[in-house]
Amino acid sequence: MEFALLFLLLPVAALSGWLGAKISVRRNSNPGAKLSSQYLAGLNFLLNEQPDKAVELFVKMIEVDSETVETHLALGSLFRRRGEVDRAIRIHQNLIARPNLTQRHRMQSLYELSLDYTSAGVLDRAESLFLELVSLNSHMGESLRHLIDIYERERDWNKAIEAAQKYQLIARQSMQATVAHYHCELAELALKHNQVDRAQRYIKRAMAIDPRNVRGQILQGQNMIAQGQYKAAIRCFLRVKNRMPAFTAEIVALLGHCYEATQQLQHFKVFLKQCFQEGLGIQVLTALPERFYTVLEDTITYPDIMCHLKERPSMRGLYTILSIRVQRVQGTLHDDIAYLMQVLQPLLNKETPYSCEHCGYSVSTLYWHCPSCRHWGTMKPYSGLKISVAA
Ligand SMILES: [Zn+2]
Repeated sequence: MEFALLFLLLPVAALSGWLGAKISVRRNSNPGAKLSSQYLAGLNFLLNEQPDKAVELFVKMIEVDSETVETHLALGSLFRRRGEVDRAIRIHQNLIARPNLTQRHRMQSLYELSLDYTSAGVLDRAESLFLELVSLNSHMGESLRHLIDIYERERDWNKAIEAAQKYQLIARQSMQATVAHYHCELAELALKHNQVDRAQRYIKRAMAIDPRNVRGQILQGQNMIAQGQYKAAIRCFLRVKNRMPAFTAEIVALLGHCYEATQQLQHFKVFLKQCFQEGLGIQVLTALPERFYTVLEDTITYPDIMCHLKERPSMRGLYTILSIRVQRVQGTLHDDIAYLMQVLQPLLNKETPYSCEHCGYSVSTLYWHCPSCRHWGTMKPYSGLKISVAA
C-alpha cells in the first residue's frame, strides 16, 4: 500500500523563517514508514532551529531515492540561500557520494555544489566543478555564465573570452560587446607594460568584434601616443568626439597632450571652440587639465562659459570656473573665491556625471564594467541637466 505525505509549500518560513522550499516525502510500507519518521524528525530539528542535528540526520539517511533526493536538494539550496554554506556543501557532497543516484540527480547535485562553493568564495573548486559540468554537457548555459563571472572576478580575461564565446553558442545570445571589453582589458594590461605591439593586437580584435566600442577607440589613441605617433592619436580622439560626442570629456586631456606635443595648440583652440558650439562645453571644461586654462581663455570668453554653465548646471563646471578665476584675481576677491572653492570641494564627489543605462547606478568616475549590475559598456556620461534659460 502506498500513500503520499506531502509537505507542499511548507509554511515554515512563517514559523521560523526556515523553509521556503517545496518538500515532498513519500511513505511506502515498513521501510518507508521508517524513512518518513526520519524525515519528520529532521524537519522537527529544523523547526526547532537545530540545523546541525537536522543535517546530521539527513546525511545519515540510508535511502536516498528519486523521491527523497529532491528533499535533500531543496534543503541544500535552502541552507545556501540562508548563507549557511557549510551545511549546504555537506548535504550536496553527501548526495554526490551516493552510488545509486541517477545521472540527472548527480548532475543537479554537482551543479548545486558548484553554487555552494561560489557562495563560499572558494572559486577554484567552483570553477573546476562548473568546467566538469560543461564537459559533461550538463547545465552548460548556467555553468558557463558562472564561469564567466568567476573569470571576471579573477580578471582572467583570456579564460573569460573562451567561456563567453562558448556561452554565446550555447545560449544563442551575443556576447560580442562583452568580449570586446575583455580584449580592451588585455590591451590596457599590455599598455601598462609598454607592450605596444601586443596592445595593438588586442585593440584590433576588440574593434573588429565591436566597432562601436568607444573604449577601443580611446585605447587606440593611447597606444599611438605610447609610440610617439601623435598625429595618428589625434585622429583617433577626434573620431571619438565625432562619433560618440557623449564621451568627449574622456579624450580632452589626451587630445590636449597630443596638440601640445606637436605644437599645434591653435588646433586645440578650434577643437575647444567647436565643443562649446556643440553643447559639449561644460563636459570639456570639467575634464580640462589646468595647464590648458590659458588656451581656453584665449578661445572662449568668461561670460560665454558662464552662459554654458547656466544652461548645463554642473558643480564640477562651477568649480573649474572658480579655479580659473582664482588665478586671475588678487586680494579680497581671491580670498573669497578660494573660500567658495573650499566649500564646494566636498560636494564634487556627490555629483555623479556617469550612470549605467542598464541599472541606473550613478558614479563620479567612468567604469567600463558597471560595479552594480556588472554589465559592460553600459555606463555613459550624463550630459548634465538641461534647463531652459529665461529670456
Ligand atoms: Zn549597471
